[in-house]
Amino acid sequence: MEFRDLKAQYSKYKNEIDSAIQEVINNTNFIGGKEVNTLEQRLAEYAGVKHCITCANGTEAMTLLMMAWDIREGDAVFVPDFTFFSTGEIVSFRGATPIFVDVDRATFNIDTIKLEKAINKVINEEILTPKVIIPVDLFGLPANHIEIDRIAKKYNLRVLEDAAQGFGGSIDGKKACSFGDAATTSFFPAKPLGCYGDGGAIFTNDDKLAELLNSLKVHGKGVNKYDNVRIGVNSRLDSIQAAVLNVKLTAFIDHELEDVNKVHKLYTEKLKGIVETPVVPQGYVSSFAQYTIKLKNMNERDALQAKLREEGIPSIVYYIKPMHMQGAFNQLKYDDSDFEVTNELCKTVLSLPMHPYLCEEDVNSIQKAIKDFIWK
Ligand SMILES: *Cc1c(COP(=O)(O)O)cnc(C)c1O
Repeated sequence: MEFRDLKAQYSKYKNEIDSAIQEVINNTNFIGGKEVNTLEQRLAEYAGVKHCITCANGTEAMTLLMMAWDIREGDAVFVPDFTFFSTGEIVSFRGATPIFVDVDRATFNIDTIKLEKAINKVINEEILTPKVIIPVDLFGLPANHIEIDRIAKKYNLRVLEDAAQGFGGSIDGKKACSFGDAATTSFFPAKPLGCYGDGGAIFTNDDKLAELLNSLKVHGKGVNKYDNVRIGVNSRLDSIQAAVLNVKLTAFIDHELEDVNKVHKLYTEKLKGIVETPVVPQGYVSSFAQYTIKLKNMNERDALQAKLREEGIPSIVYYIKPMHMQGAFNQLKYDDSDFEVTNELCKTVLSLPMHPYLCEEDVNSIQKAIKDFIWK
């Protein structure tokens, strides 16, 4: 059994993917060109925003925004404590200070009450200047963007939606990648929409910002890349990845998002009353980058994972360490008691195999293994 079955997806779309890649090679147009332009237009349309700017990966997508917004030393950026390292890394990379905020136990996403407290604390201390909130759509579920938007307006902060795991999710029909001042996603192979290497994208309705990002990602280009008007980086999505993504985006829209939600329903029906299953609030749609259950304590979680492994069922702990405990942030001196929920989640969560091609027999055997273990 695969944790995320990319082989099943490839075998279904082998003809389309192979010929899309071959066409790029035939044309020997490996950077930019029609594959990338088409993809950007389709992604912007799908998310319901004016601009999509593709780039090298999801981390760079966020870094480019930090550059565009001139985030620097002395600035405070609010980031959930329960996320992939990247979300905090890009803040420190610019010399700014990541202020980690505890998450909501049910949704795994940033706790908006604690967020507002953290903002007020920074304002009162008068050392750092609050600048940006980076809510993460963790495991595919959009963060509480309605409340985050209210807080951002109240304190005059920018919002960067980190939708690396969130592509395809929505709140009352409004799609992930359309929240905040700008949003980013990742096309790392295991994400909801993945390519065959690294890739990422930025989404925004802001014309000026889009223009600036298009310059920053190509060496700060002016009228062309040999006219350089600012210091930038080299961060492009290559044409082969765009060609693969054009095929996969069609599959994602046609059936994959729906199918992964069918797997969610099936899992949740079968695991209800045995373990704590993921919560999807009213009006929200998750793209289920992960299907994450909660166990009673670390011993139970670790023993279940060992039992699943024995039965050939892969599972992964996302995430084993809170951001505030990462060695890279040692010098920042966080107060561990501010992160009660994240500390608990890191000990009790377990992500099960999850993808649109997971069949009912596999869900049944996963259920049986978990039930036999919990009710032993
Ligand atoms: C994967 C991920 C990223 C980074 O994306 P890359 O394409 O791997 O650079 C950022 N944030 C979150 C929450 C992620 O899961």
